[in-house]
Amino acid sequence: MTATESVRECDVVVLGVGPGGEYAARKLAEAGLDVVGVDRGLVGGECPFWGCTPSKLMVRPSDLVAEVHRADRLAGDARIRPDWSLVAARIREANHDWSDHQHVEPLEHAGVRIVRGHGRLDGPGTVRVELDGATTVLRTTRGVLVNTGTEPMRPPIDGLADTPYWTNREAMKVTEVPDRLVVLGGGPNGLELATVFARFGARVTLLEAADRVAAQEEPEAGELLARILRDEGVDVRAGAEVERVDHDGEFHLRVGGEVLDADQLLVVTGRRNNLTDIGLETVGLDPEAETIDVDGHLRAGERLWAVGDITGKGAFTHVSRYQAAGAVADILGHDGPPADYGAVSRVVFSDPELAAVGLTEQQARDAGLSVRVGLAQVEKSARGWLHGPGTTGLVKVVEDADRGVLVGATVVAPYGGEVVGMLVTAVHGEVPVSRLRTMHYAYPTFHRTIEAALKRLA
Ligand SMILES: Cc1cc2nc3c(=O)[nH]c(=O)nc-3n(C[C@H](O)[C@H](O)[C@H](O)COP(=O)(O)OP(=O)(O)OC[C@H]3O[C@@H](n4cnc5c(N)ncnc54)[C@H](O)[C@@H]3O)c2cc1C
Repeated sequence: MTATESVRECDVVVLGVGPGGEYAARKLAEAGLDVVGVDRGLVGGECPFWGCTPSKLMVRPSDLVAEVHRADRLAGDARIRPDWSLVAARIREANHDWSDHQHVEPLEHAGVRIVRGHGRLDGPGTVRVELDGATTVLRTTRGVLVNTGTEPMRPPIDGLADTPYWTNREAMKVTEVPDRLVVLGGGPNGLELATVFARFGARVTLLEAADRVAAQEEPEAGELLARILRDEGVDVRAGAEVERVDHDGEFHLRVGGEVLDADQLLVVTGRRNNLTDIGLETVGLDPEAETIDVDGHLRAGERLWAVGDITGKGAFTHVSRYQAAGAVADILGHDGPPADYGAVSRVVFSDPELAAVGLTEQQARDAGLSVRVGLAQVEKSARGWLHGPGTTGLVKVVEDADRGVLVGATVVAPYGGEVVGMLVTAVHGEVPVSRLRTMHYAYPTFHRTIEAALKRLA
């Protein structure tokens, strides 16, 4: 032991306090265990400070801007002068100027001790935490729950690393909207942020390397969202490979023989799991692995549990929290069902929202299922027609015809994230399609389009 090394005993260490770790630490402490939470950044993780919360605090006002622009076709002349300072102020207020006391205090109140610094596993049940040359060794009686989450993926594009580009971290602190913005990455974050900044006045170019945006979702959904964004003036380019980036006060991106100039570049091309340099080799795990394998009770090894994005089961706050509940039960020795990921739902808070659950048609075919699909347009429904501008959308359902149950579904619609709820129940509960076809669908709702899609299953 060095002069700056101290040793502490406890029951459980939560290494990385993202949404899952925060929940688990509190629940374990409330159950009477001596819990230490270790974080090198802000306790609470990506979601409240640079992810879900601030991005949705941008989405809501940007949707409002779009609604006002639609008003003249429905209600009369309405004008709006979008003011980003209101958005920036609300984000700053929501996360207390990027201070984590709102997360730390309830944890400490429950009895959790917080240790700041970079933590590494040091054999089963032990964690070493380094901060400013001082080391704290944490020895546990029960074990360690790892929840180290992700950081932005930085694509290996020539010149990019030498430029002051934004990731989601900088984007959530923006105080002024740039005139010309290039968004690199047409996944959920790129789609949401391209929409937001365009509606607040930026000329946005959205570049996606795959052949469509929202490439992980049904092709019909990505194609529809690209069309809607183009109609709003966003220059959406799929199949766009950026060869080089330069910066001389402005950004210059070489893309397919053309040079795109921009005032700012936002790179949201995915996430990288924080698994390097956390001592996985000391507990018999592969330090090069991209994810930590967990069983149904979130066990990853001897006295070791893992939850959240690092498990590769869905990089969402609701998955992290769901897994945390399972890990807590296991650590406390309670019986419980194993984790089930068959009906994980996902929502892109675009406008209209893209929401999906379970398998896409292609994933179902690749799994060897006997597949039938049904597709219906939201704008052809009574509610779609009544709603008017801003209604374009679809519902696609994927059935395992052998079992007669839905294994996946996609909704693009206003409030799509809410509409998908009943489809999550259908997939999770394996409700027979024959039952879904004979239930009541309130008139005139957006979810009635589900009935139309079910009728078209073929
Ligand atoms: C822009 C954006 C928008 C998003 N929107 C949504 C959304 O609308 N809905 C949704 O469900 N999800 C959304 N997500 C994803 C969501 O933020 C994550 O899935 C969620 O935060 C869960 O992550 P996690 O529990 O794995 O840990 P994280 O939130 O990544 O937290 C991990 C914690 O571990 C700490 N840490 C890492 N390594 C160490 C170490 N070695 N030692 C000590 N501490 C360490 C970090 O400092 C961090 O506090 C969004 C993400 C982004 C980037």
